[in-house]
Amino acid sequence: MIGSALIVGGGIAGMTSALALSAKGVGVTLVDADPNWRVYGAGISITGISLRAFDDLGILDEVRARGHVGSGMRGRSVDGTVIFQAPAHENPKPIQSGGGIMRPVLHDILSARVRETGITVRLGLKVSSFADDGAGVDVTFDDGSSGRYDLLVGADGIFSQIRGTLFPEAPKPRFTGQGCWRAVAPRPEGMTGTEMFFGGPVKLGFNPVSATHMYLFVLEHVLDNPRYADDQLVDHLKGLLAPFGAYVPEVRAGLGPHSLVNYRPLEWQLLAAPWHKGRAVVIGDAAHATTPHMASGAGMAVEDGLVLADEMAKTDDVSSALAAFMARRQERARLIVENSVRIGEIEMSGGDQVEANKMLGGTLSRLAEPY
Ligand SMILES: Cc1cc2nc3c(=O)[nH]c(=O)nc-3n(C[C@H](O)[C@H](O)[C@H](O)COP(=O)(O)OP(=O)(O)OC[C@H]3O[C@@H](n4cnc5c(N)ncnc54)[C@H](O)[C@@H]3O)c2cc1C
Repeated sequence: MIGSALIVGGGIAGMTSALALSAKGVGVTLVDADPNWRVYGAGISITGISLRAFDDLGILDEVRARGHVGSGMRGRSVDGTVIFQAPAHENPKPIQSGGGIMRPVLHDILSARVRETGITVRLGLKVSSFADDGAGVDVTFDDGSSGRYDLLVGADGIFSQIRGTLFPEAPKPRFTGQGCWRAVAPRPEGMTGTEMFFGGPVKLGFNPVSATHMYLFVLEHVLDNPRYADDQLVDHLKGLLAPFGAYVPEVRAGLGPHSLVNYRPLEWQLLAAPWHKGRAVVIGDAAHATTPHMASGAGMAVEDGLVLADEMAKTDDVSSALAAFMARRQERARLIVENSVRIGEIEMSGGDQVEANKMLGGTLSRLAEPY
């Protein structure tokens, strides 16, 4: 078992691996480039695999209390007519459930645990260089300080600096042709769970993120990859919501400059195996960044952290622990990234929605198998 680890990046993957390694007795230092350790204010959907991983990490009760966890789903046509209602499970297990949470709330839950656990957190810091001599990794930071660690974990997101240093030949993230709009608003009367609208010019869904609020997401096909100024966001989103019925006109009317609205072009990358070299490894979006079509990026990041700590605890040999980690993560990451991108392609080509739904259901049930 290693004695020390440096984790670069304090997002979901970084905080989770910090907690899981620390629980095994590893001395963990976590650094994040952001001096304020903030995350942007959007909602995220949480699928069964994310809830199971939160449960395994020990944060599910807090996620339930501060987010929304339920089961079942309502489907509507563009005019708002209910076209199906997938029934809720009775006393569902986490893996049979779903929900939503504000990203800053999830960050708050995880970062409070990290602080309580006594993990060393250093903010506003990046790695300038690192050298692995086989027995440890010597790291120099951009404030001139340095340290030596048994393991270096790159959890620094889709544009990972650590991935770029370890694997300079790896392909850069690629834009898919879709952009994702998200907004937070009060929950309309009668909204009890996930709702999706089918057959519209854009893909539209709603998910509660707390007892009082929900977030909506819209996937728009934008092949020319446009960028929007902050003051254009609300009007553009209102335009996209205009064709939809039910409670959408009320939600749309409530959107204004005060609203939390954000837009992100969808990009993906899947690092070829292995994701490790010597005593360094990349995890989370740094290894496998997917589009939100399966809404399970958070769960995959948590699983990475838990599996990494699990394999590290089994042996003193870092390279065989990393090989075992890789063997458990590779196929799940491939499944989720390739099938998410494929679903986006089907949507953009106006292809068969039944095929896309089959792929979604089939992938989620394979991911429901133990990780
Ligand atoms: C539009 C969109 C919608 C999504 N919706 C969902 C959803 O509904 N449900 C879901 O489960 N997932 C969703 N995801 C995916 C999910 O957000 C990611 O999979 C997840 O955040 C990955 O966590 P991470 O810790 O690997 O990376 P990140 O969350 O990106 O964290 C990386 C961290 O590293 C830090 N960092 C970056 N560079 C450096 C550096 N050089 N040095 C030090 N620190 C650095 C950053 O400050 C950040 O704190 C969505 C993604 C997108 C783009």
